Amino acid sequence: MPINNAYLNGIYEDLAVKSAHEPEFLQAVYEVLESLVPVVERRPDLVKAGVIKRIVEPERIIQFRVSWLDDKGEVQVNRGYRVQFNSAIGPYKGGLRFHPSVTLSVIKFLGFEQIFKNSLTGLPMGGGKGGSDFDPKGKSDAEVMRFCQSFMTELSKHIGPDTDVPAGDIGVGGREIGYLFGQYKRLRNEFTGVLTGKGLSYGGSLARTEATGYGTCYFAGEMLGSRGESFQGKRVVISGSGNVAIYANQKATQLGGKVIAMSDSNGYIVDENGIDYTVIQEIKEVRRDRIKTYLNYVPTAKYVEGCRGIWSVPCDIALPCATQNELNGEEAGWLISNGVMAVAEGANMPCTPEAVTAFQNAGVLFGPAKAVNAGGVATSGLEMSQNSQRLSWTFEEVDQKLHQIMKNIYASAAAAAEEYGMPGNLVAGANIAGFLKVADAMMWQGIAY
Ligand code: NDP
Repeated sequence: MPINNAYLNGIYEDLAVKSAHEPEFLQAVYEVLESLVPVVERRPDLVKAGVIKRIVEPERIIQFRVSWLDDKGEVQVNRGYRVQFNSAIGPYKGGLRFHPSVTLSVIKFLGFEQIFKNSLTGLPMGGGKGGSDFDPKGKSDAEVMRFCQSFMTELSKHIGPDTDVPAGDIGVGGREIGYLFGQYKRLRNEFTGVLTGKGLSYGGSLARTEATGYGTCYFAGEMLGSRGESFQGKRVVISGSGNVAIYANQKATQLGGKVIAMSDSNGYIVDENGIDYTVIQEIKEVRRDRIKTYLNYVPTAKYVEGCRGIWSVPCDIALPCATQNELNGEEAGWLISNGVMAVAEGANMPCTPEAVTAFQNAGVLFGPAKAVNAGGVATSGLEMSQNSQRLSWTFEEVDQKLHQIMKNIYASAAAAAEEYGMPGNLVAGANIAGFLKVADAMMWQGIAY
């Protein structure tokens, strides 16, 4: 459907031709441009300075070969990417994703979203993203190490603590960050905060591991609070069982909710007594196993093959925390007819546009990813501050700052939605609030950027 503004629609149409093979990127851009209709009507200066035309084009894309030796001594080749999208408000910042589904389109969509997410945190971080189609699943530690070392051998030429500071994402956790950091240090002979999500013994921040999941629940708590509700006594369904999902479970449970279903890419489990996050931690972080083995720990639970059916489990609060486009219009319909009250996107773009529209039309509280999951990058920003100061803050200090940042993000998204005539629409509010700060910085810095 054309965007309801000829200027914005022209920008989108142009991009749709140039990026015809990048569906995820186009999906992300469309959603942001649609939100900016009332902004361009009020701000002809942004149009004159071509800010929107510039913001949809990455400042730099780096694509590289990653060759490495597997345990049999055979040569393997993967593709590596780093998209340095926008540095108007700070060094590029955004995670690295290692998953077979990674393409340039996926990295561009994530990098584009990251610009506005980072801006919403209130911290000085530009937007970037990177990764590879390498699959860490089923690889030995030694293979993962060799891959990470090869990946960093090229990436190290393009990043630095004041230039670009990557972090983790799908398939990149503490193990991978350690190998990447070790190789950067070896090559550059510098011990700097060039990556976040580091281990606590070498510059990591307390609460960074928990931050995205906790932040997701803090944000959902603010949404629920706007209707006089809370997590207390609510049935919660969380898709995924990785970093975001595990700690969303922990926080939702601490806040009084009961997490009854979780998934991985093979299937989902239902435990009406509430899923203990430490069991998922054991399965996923220690054993690196499949979620169906939950039944070995809790035989009364149920396992269903196929991950998408998770949205048919009746719940009050749904937290999609796995991957993009994991919840479509039909599945949104199941949640709505089962009486869901709030949906908060822990993953990036997990709901398709049809699903988002369905939730909004049904009056379901809906929190978009770039606001809901911004706690991860916000805490990465706090890790950068601690590294610069050569200090470590306590868990409580970091958690308290994270909580306040999430409250601020909710307040600024809600205020922007109100100011631009779309009260309650947090999708538009987050896009507008995130955009305006970056746009302003781009105006000040002149049009070469
Ligand atoms: P992890 O790799 O730790 O976990 C990903 C989880 O999602 C796993 O349970 C995985 O299952 C599942 N999953 C992955 N791909 C698919 C798929 N195609 N279909 C179904 N399930 C899938 O990643 P994270 O928890 O770090 O990231 C999850 C989401 O949150 C991503 O969208 C990421 O971009 C976003 N995010 C993460 C942040 C962070 O700090 N980690 C910050 C902000 C956003 P399986 O094991 O079977 O692959």
